[in-house]
Amino acid sequence: MSDIAVDLVVLGGGSGGYSAALRASQLGMSVALIEKDKVGGTCLHVGCIPTKALLHSAEIADNTRDAARFGVTTTLHGIDVAAVSAYRQGIIDSKYKGLQGLLKARGIQMVDGHGTLTSPTTVQVGDTTVTGKNVVLATGSYAKTLPGLDIGGRIMTSEQALTLDYVPKKVIVLGGGVIGVEFSSVWRSWGSEVTIIEGLPRLVPAEDESVSKQFERAFRKRGIEFKTGVRFQSATQNDSGVVVTLEGGETVEGDVLLVAVGRGPSTNNCGFDTVGVEMDRGYVLTNERLQTNIPGVYAVGDIVPGLQLAHRGYQHGIFVAEDLAGLNPIVVSDINIPKVTYSEPEIASVGLGETVAKEQYGEANIAVYDYNLAGNGKSHILETSGSIKVVRVIDGPVVGVHMIGARVGELIGEAQLIVNWEAHPEDIAPHLHAHPTQNEALGEAFLALAGKPLHAM
Ligand SMILES: Cc1cc2nc3c(=O)[nH]c(=O)nc-3n(C[C@H](O)[C@H](O)[C@H](O)COP(=O)(O)OP(=O)(O)OC[C@H]3O[C@@H](n4cnc5c(N)ncnc54)[C@H](O)[C@@H]3O)c2cc1C
Repeated sequence: MSDIAVDLVVLGGGSGGYSAALRASQLGMSVALIEKDKVGGTCLHVGCIPTKALLHSAEIADNTRDAARFGVTTTLHGIDVAAVSAYRQGIIDSKYKGLQGLLKARGIQMVDGHGTLTSPTTVQVGDTTVTGKNVVLATGSYAKTLPGLDIGGRIMTSEQALTLDYVPKKVIVLGGGVIGVEFSSVWRSWGSEVTIIEGLPRLVPAEDESVSKQFERAFRKRGIEFKTGVRFQSATQNDSGVVVTLEGGETVEGDVLLVAVGRGPSTNNCGFDTVGVEMDRGYVLTNERLQTNIPGVYAVGDIVPGLQLAHRGYQHGIFVAEDLAGLNPIVVSDINIPKVTYSEPEIASVGLGETVAKEQYGEANIAVYDYNLAGNGKSHILETSGSIKVVRVIDGPVVGVHMIGARVGELIGEAQLIVNWEAHPEDIAPHLHAHPTQNEALGEAFLALAGKPLHAM
């Protein structure tokens, strides 16, 4: 391929990179998008999409097992992992094809191969020099492990776990954060015995404490075991299984060990340090406008310290493209990015937790209402329990919404609009929520905080 000169060079075709490319081309810029593997990145190929497909299969297994209670006669014979894989891969293939078509239709020049930043305006891909007026770094992240814990065989990260061709009888999951609980939920629904090991004092430690407590109760009820506040010491494996030893000597045995201890930035061998891009432990440092210390070089997505979520990457990419086009977009602040933990039950949250809100605004200035889903008709029909907790500043806006229960991820859209638009419960109270929906539970919480609870005290 001969050398390429464009307005914008994007290095990495995941959520952050491809959204920057799409928006920039929409705004009239010529764009080259460099990708060494497959556009769509982690989210499409080994993250968000495949895991949600597994969770849907898991939900169907649970529904089949419980069907008799709802008057449907059926028997769960087992999980056909090959069929699950075909279903999962079919979704990925279709979305991958769609994305490739969209990038082509927008006139984005695709460059296949590993790119290395060689100057503030150039990326080298094999023999091809790609030059841009601006460069966006979007090389994403990889699954981390712990010192001395080698990935291979029965010890795996989410990437290998996704393509496991059998349902393990006993699973050990190291890490009780989003990815760990997501896989735990799937495996339990498919019939595995699951033990989670979490070093912090609670599962899903990034969520509001009361939500974590309810989540632990729900997992316990499902028969998922967990050990919190304990540290991993070592793991050994042989032909028949894995043994994990915890600090203090306790051991846990399983067929496989999933290591879900977080994700690190994929910035090795990308030339960033050579060109002088300021970094911290592999992450690329930026200002709030996602500019690195090198003029004209931006960074988006998982390589920028903060939440590692696909929709944050999308928003970063859109932001940079619009900023370059002089549209002065609104800065994306991490605290108001919606988060969903996909499992049974789900957790969905946005904004400040109760404790943080009280620290930030003073205890006397915060009001909290925790609406129990037991009062919500649709949740009762679905036989889910949980709650919707809304945190507001007294005489001020809603600053946090924290939800737990089946399907609450679908409610985060309204919650994030309210928090981001700084709406007061009194503004929301006159607006209707359709009956019977789980969405009504949000409405009930806002009514209560506006001083006029309907189906609650
Ligand atoms: C199991 C799992 C489940 C997840 N579920 C969710 C979810 O439900 N919701 C959610 O919001 N997020 C989820 N995530 C997180 C989400 O996938 C990431 O936040 C998102 O993919 C980050 O986008 P990115 O563009 O920064 O990086 P990536 O998606 O990692 O993309 C980076 C791309 O850059 C390419 N690349 C890297 N270096 C080079 C180079 N030198 N030259 C050329 N190309 C290069 C890579 O091949 C890759 O395609 C999940 C992640 C995992 C692992």
